[in-house]
Amino acid sequence: MNVPLLDLKAQYRSIRNEIDAAVAEVFESQHFILGPKVKACEDAIAQYSQCPHAIGVSSGTDALLLALMAANIGPGDEVITSPYTFFATAGSVSRMGARPVFVDIEPATFNIDVSRIESAITPRTRAIMPVHLYGQMADMDPVMAIAKRHKLVVIEDACQSIGAEYKGKRAGSIGDYGCFSFFPSKNLGGAGDGGAITTQDKELAARLSILRVHGMEPKYFHEWIGGNFRLDALQAAVVAVKIRHLDAWTRQRQCNAARYDRLFTAAGLESAGIRRPPVVMSRHVFNQYIIRTPRRDELRAFLQKREIGAEVYYPLPLHMQKCFADLGYRKGDFPESELAAQETLALPIYPELTDAQAEWVVESIRAFFMN
Ligand SMILES: *Cc1c(COP(=O)(O)O)cnc(C)c1O
Repeated sequence: MNVPLLDLKAQYRSIRNEIDAAVAEVFESQHFILGPKVKACEDAIAQYSQCPHAIGVSSGTDALLLALMAANIGPGDEVITSPYTFFATAGSVSRMGARPVFVDIEPATFNIDVSRIESAITPRTRAIMPVHLYGQMADMDPVMAIAKRHKLVVIEDACQSIGAEYKGKRAGSIGDYGCFSFFPSKNLGGAGDGGAITTQDKELAARLSILRVHGMEPKYFHEWIGGNFRLDALQAAVVAVKIRHLDAWTRQRQCNAARYDRLFTAAGLESAGIRRPPVVMSRHVFNQYIIRTPRRDELRAFLQKREIGAEVYYPLPLHMQKCFADLGYRKGDFPESELAAQETLALPIYPELTDAQAEWVVESIRAFFMN
């Protein structure tokens, strides 16, 4: 039995008519840049994320970059974030000429360890960029309290966590900016690259909209230097269709996670050293379901032979990446991130995963450990 890590064809088959109609409308209108489809998508994202404003942008990476631009973060500034995340989180900080300052993760959630943030603050610190990894939010109350005390901007990297909640508040609705990605493998994926930024502040929203089009307002007059960070109307049309299904898909992901939990317990796998992170925050949207074991690479190869997709997010923490060598970090600086990079494995958790497929995944993991 083949169990892919993600089955986007199955999802497309289930909503093909709606998607095809929305895409056809864009072609009929020949309105490809901004316009009503982008506005409708932004309204849907804002409402879903419980935020008054959303600005559609060209990718999750560009959402992070644009938020940093809007916050005037640049050379000489420091931004505190996690070293255990996708590259774009820290890459965007460096691209603005600022310096990423890493703080280790908390191993139960894989999110930034808030008890270590304050000791990383210097007079140059301008922002904290918590990442809501794998579909679960970082511990935002302490993040916001620290930010308030030290007058720091908070940019939530919510690229993996649209719809996740922390104490009843949605990802992207707590910090100054919330950054989302519509990369196809995210919980709300487009048909290519896309993203959005949420904010509660009307002036910031206006500034983001202007920076998105080269800092241009009115046409051909530029008060600031922005860039082309627009969300395509075609992507907006697809995302606006898909967001109507997102709650149902999220429930499926949560059911799949609960089913894995049950199957792992029934198979007696906890004693085999597979540690599953407990759900700590109120709404986990399971962009990934993560197990960990010191025998991760062997297990992954074993699963691959059985045509079961399993992926490593992420094999090398950012402080150990070659491109960040000049930051001066060394191996051993962030032990929890380094251990997670060696031990974590993401299993198939996509909404259309069947009972039989999940059982086969767990049976295969049992076979690996017990035989
Ligand atoms: C996917 C992702 C991004 C980047 O999003 P893109 O749309 O691929 O540019 C940034 N941060 C995190 C945590 C991500 O998972």
